[in-house]
This record gives sequence, C-alpha cells and structure tokens, in this order.
Amino acid sequence: MIVVRFAPSPTGYMHIGNLRTAMLNYLFALNKKQAGEDVSFVLRMDDTDRERSKPEYEAAVYEGLNWMNVKWDRLEHQFQRLERYNEVLEQLRKQGRVYACYETAEELEYKRRRQLARKMPPIYDRAGMHLTEEQIKAYEAEGRKPHYRFVLEHKEISWDDMVRGHCTYHGDKLSDPIIVREDGTFPYMLPSVIDDIDFGITHIIRGEDHVTNTAVQIQMFEALGAPIPVFGHPPLLTGKEGKLSKRTGSVSFRELRADGIEPMTIACLLAKLGTSDAVVVENTLEKLAPHFDLTKFGRAQPHFDTEDLFKLNPRIVHALDFNDVNNRLTKDGKEPVSEQFWNAVSPNIDKFADIYNWIDICGSEKVFDLSAEDREFVRQSADLLENKPFDETTFSEWTAKIKEKTGRKGKDLFHPLRLALTGLEQGPELKMLLPILGYEKTIARLKG
Ligand code: GLU
Repeated sequence: MIVVRFAPSPTGYMHIGNLRTAMLNYLFALNKKQAGEDVSFVLRMDDTDRERSKPEYEAAVYEGLNWMNVKWDRLEHQFQRLERYNEVLEQLRKQGRVYACYETAEELEYKRRRQLARKMPPIYDRAGMHLTEEQIKAYEAEGRKPHYRFVLEHKEISWDDMVRGHCTYHGDKLSDPIIVREDGTFPYMLPSVIDDIDFGITHIIRGEDHVTNTAVQIQMFEALGAPIPVFGHPPLLTGKEGKLSKRTGSVSFRELRADGIEPMTIACLLAKLGTSDAVVVENTLEKLAPHFDLTKFGRAQPHFDTEDLFKLNPRIVHALDFNDVNNRLTKDGKEPVSEQFWNAVSPNIDKFADIYNWIDICGSEKVFDLSAEDREFVRQSADLLENKPFDETTFSEWTAKIKEKTGRKGKDLFHPLRLALTGLEQGPELKMLLPILGYEKTIARLKG
C-alpha cells in the first residue's frame, strides 16, 4: 500500500507552489497505481493555527484541487486531533523525550544573536533541560508559562531521499524543536509526524524547505516506534530573476484559471519542470502519470515562468478530448458542437474560451463588411459554387473554378473569401470551415 499526503496550511490562498506539491504527490501515487499498487491520497488540513487558518483559504484548497482533478481518498483536519497529540505528548514525556523551557521569545533571540556574534551556529543551548526545582518555581512565580521541546538524540540521522539522494544530518547540529507553545498549542512539527504515522503515510513529497524538518521528524518517528516514510524533497521554484520571488510563489490558481490556463497545462509543465525532460502534452493526469518520475528531478531550483504556461496552453487545448469539449460547453449552458467543428477550429484557439468566438462566427447569421472590390470578387465566386452537400473537397474544387474564371490565385484569391466567410484575417482552414457553414450560409456571406 502506498499512501501519500498533501498537507496545506489554510493560512493563505493556494498558489502555484502548493499546487505543485499536491500535483507531484498525486502523479506519484497515480504512477504507482498504474504499476498495480494500492494507493491512497490523504488531504490533511494543517489548521492548528487558529488565528491564521480561515475557511475561505480551506475552501480555496478544495476548489484548486477539484479544478486540477486531484482527488483525495481521505480528508483530515489537524485541529480535530488535539486530543491525540496530547496523548502522544504524554507518551514522549514518559520516554524522557520532552522538557520544559521558560525563555521568552526575546531571550531566545538574544541567545541566538550572541551565538551568531561568536560565529557559533545558533543551536538551542538546552538550558531548559538543566533547570533546578527552585529555578522552575521562580519562573512560575514570575507568571511564566513553559513551552516544551523534544530531545533530539545526538547521533547521525540519514535517509535516502527520492530527489536529493543520500542525506545526512547530525543531531547535535540541530536545535531541539519546540513541540508545545506557551499557550498549549502545537506547532507544525510533532502533529505532522503523529498524523503521518496514524494515517499510514508511506511517502512524503514536499518542498526542500522541509529538509531540516525531516531530520528532526525522523527522530520523532523513531521515538514513537514507527516506520520511517520515504522522503522526496524537490527544490523550490524560482522566479524569473533567478531568485525566490514572492511573485512566483504567489501566482494563484484562480488568476491562471481566469487567464484561460488549462489545469492540464499546469500539470504537464509541473510534471517536468526541474527535470531535463521535455514537457509532454497529455489531456488527463492518468495519461501524464507514466511520464512522471520524481527521481529525475534535479537539485537545481527550476525557473517557473507563467509565460511558459501561456506558451504551452494552446498545445494542451488542441489536445483536449472532444467529449470533454462538449461536456464543458454543456456545463456552460452552450450547445454541443460537432467533432468536425472542433477539428476545424481547435488548431486556431489558444484558450478554450476562444471557441466561443468560432461558435459565434460559424453559427450566427452574420454577414461581414468587405471593400467594394472584394465584394464584387466574392459575389462572382458565389456564382461558381454548386448547390450540393459540402465536404472537405468542396473548397478545392470551387477555388479551382474561381482561379480558372478570374485568373486570381494565392492570397488574392483566398484572402477575400476568408474575410467574407469569417470576417477575420486568419482562422481555421477554409476547406474545413465550408462544410460547417453549409451552402446557404456561405452564399449569404458571399453575396453580402
Ligand atoms: N503544512 C505544511 C506546509 O504547508 C506541511 C509540510 C509537510 O508536508 O509536512 O508547509
């Protein structure tokens, strides 16, 4: 059984970085499923921060994942599991892995600065571990409340990362992490491990900003006697300027959606961004999954540029499945189109919404304005058009006759016809458009 999870903190709107983590986990799981494994995708809301977690942010996670077609098998909320976290805390306490500390945030900051000034790494000095009964009483009498830290064993910590290869840390180079705040709330670190254990997470794929957390969390898994999941930490995305930019991280899926970017455009790009492979164009996540391989992700931070999405989008739109096209049109309250229509217009649209232009152009009773000279020419051409069912050969037979009769060829011949039939300089191949328009409409547009 392979169990992955996506664990967003609903403290802000879902952005491309979050979507990427979700997508990499999902593609990873799909890939395993296609190899015959049982898989499960857990969506976990890391919502212990009650001040900053908001229902609208949580709703945006569901909306974003639904839009991307990422389906979860299980939904969990950390805030509903506080009792469980306290239970595990008690267990760790009994194991001697927890100690109380009384420093204020300012005191900790002061210690940190002093260490840095002495060119020492800013590792917590474990003062709390050595407090006497009297000192504790004195702190309590001052009205101070303790926060609690987890005791890291001072030994080597290592794991084989799916992206980074063999990783090694040493416990004495890390600060004992705070696992309970002064107000009794739990920071991210321990609840995440408890959940990963309780929900049977086998593979953790998350950004490289969590690498150090992984070293700490591995000791928590060990302390709780649980198997250590397999980890994969892809490098974070960077912006255009080559450094982490807020702009990059904050591109929201809503903006992209409003700009006509397809969810599969995002998925296809993210599946390969950071590898040396070319992007593959597929129209479902299921078809994309076989092309996904986390071990191909490099260590360099990949550049993410929304321009790349805009460049890729037309290819994705052209590859849309015809049935999906009609499902979308029907959902939008529009009439379905014929496959012939889709094949004719799809090479000419960059965004799905462009289809509405073509539905309008082909479906309406419009007649387009032309210069007097062009009108005269196309009227003449109309007389050469036979009234019989149109197919894809009609156009070439017809234009051969026009050429013979008028001596026009190339652009001089085709351009006025295109303007008369579509009102536009460019568009679908006329040989494909003619059968869609049909005899009556074609004649009406030519005659003006
Ligand atoms: N809520 C954490 C985050 O958004 C989850 C980290 C993890 O995947 O463990 O960064």
